[in-house]
Amino acid sequence: MKAKILLIEDNPQNRYLAKFLLEQRGHEVLEAETGPQGLEMAAECSPDLILLDIQLPGMDGHAVARTLKSDSQLKSIPVVAVTSYAMVGDREKCLEAGAEGYIEKPIDPETFPATVEGYLNTPIGEPAS
Ligand code: MN
Repeated sequence: MKAKILLIEDNPQNRYLAKFLLEQRGHEVLEAETGPQGLEMAAECSPDLILLDIQLPGMDGHAVARTLKSDSQLKSIPVVAVTSYAMVGDREKCLEAGAEGYIEKPIDPETFPATVEGYLNTPIGEPAS
């Protein structure tokens, strides 16, 4: 299934790799560099899924996830947090903020696209893993 995926990530190299891997599978990838830009694009473009970097300047990913999940029009979009924090409890913090899933950086090109696709059909409120 071809999906429209919104990638909110401030690091150009990380954006490039994720976009490349997802486009290779036929998905459409929209890019935002900041939380506020991502929120604006989510409202404008109705993506099928949002990949959300947690370490963002200004408004961090937890705040972005919370904002998405408190918006009646946006809360049904699955949100997958992508974070390099090797911190105990960070996964829980992302899920608490409303993310449906969590992928650790550095992303593994072998498994990343299939992992993302697994979240496309996840019923909201039921984490896939
Ligand atoms: Mn970042």
